[in-house]
Amino acid sequence: MAEHELQQTHKLLLQLQDILREKFRLEEEIETLPAALKEKEARLAEANQKYIALNDDYTKAKQDATSNSIRYDDAVKARTDAEKMVEKITLQREYEAITKQIDEARVVENALLKARTASNALVNDLSEQLTAQGEVCEHLKNEVEEEKAKIDGILEEKKAAIASLESQCDDIRKEGVSDEIYAKFSKIVKNKNGLGITPIVQGQVCSGCHMILPMQFVNDVRRGTNVTEYCPYCSRILYYQEDEETIDLSDFEQEAQEDFFADALSDDDFDNI
Ligand SMILES: [Zn+2]
Repeated sequence: MAEHELQQTHKLLLQLQDILREKFRLEEEIETLPAALKEKEARLAEANQKYIALNDDYTKAKQDATSNSIRYDDAVKARTDAEKMVEKITLQREYEAITKQIDEARVVENALLKARTASNALVNDLSEQLTAQGEVCEHLKNEVEEEKAKIDGILEEKKAAIASLESQCDDIRKEGVSDEIYAKFSKIVKNKNGLGITPIVQGQVCSGCHMILPMQFVNDVRRGTNVTEYCPYCSRILYYQEDEETIDLSDFEQEAQEDFFADALSDDDFDNI
């Protein structure tokens, strides 16, 4: 393979790398976008549940209040009826009996008055709580609607940006990157933190994973035996730089072990390269 052709391919891959990085970053942002909406939707569902529970309590309290009111009115009537009877009584024995009846009726009446007051107070309290909770639900519902509209807007923007980046990629591919290489390279950039093509440094070290490469492999890369050579450790595409600055190799050896294991652990999704 002619050297200039090889350099051209590497130059194109480097250009593609910048665009793909941006594209993948945008795709990731799209995935995390609905998180805020989901959180708001969960809060709205919770608020609605609370409203329904409060409404049940309110309905029951109103029924109790009505029932207490009827029972109180009945008790008042029983007491006044007994009081009216007093006027018609002539016998002492009957008088004592009716007085006792009136006293008992008063006790019941007072107890029911308290119950009626308490249940009316509960109805008022629950009514206020219900109104307040209704406002909370309404507020959250508006927030969910706003968030949805916001997401739709952002989503549209990001999708348009991705489409533009993809069209830039297509233009670069036309200049001399095969579909096969593009597909592999694109996967590498995505799975290897945005670094899919990287130079051999210090004559023998992959600058992507810092592993020391076999000399025969380095020679193949240097001669340009194939258009693309993939690092046997991290799968990144490697190219040779004649004017590479001198770097202390001992640093790489130490880092190499750590990076190799870090890379190896995240390689599951990458076996088919
Ligand atoms: Zn490597």
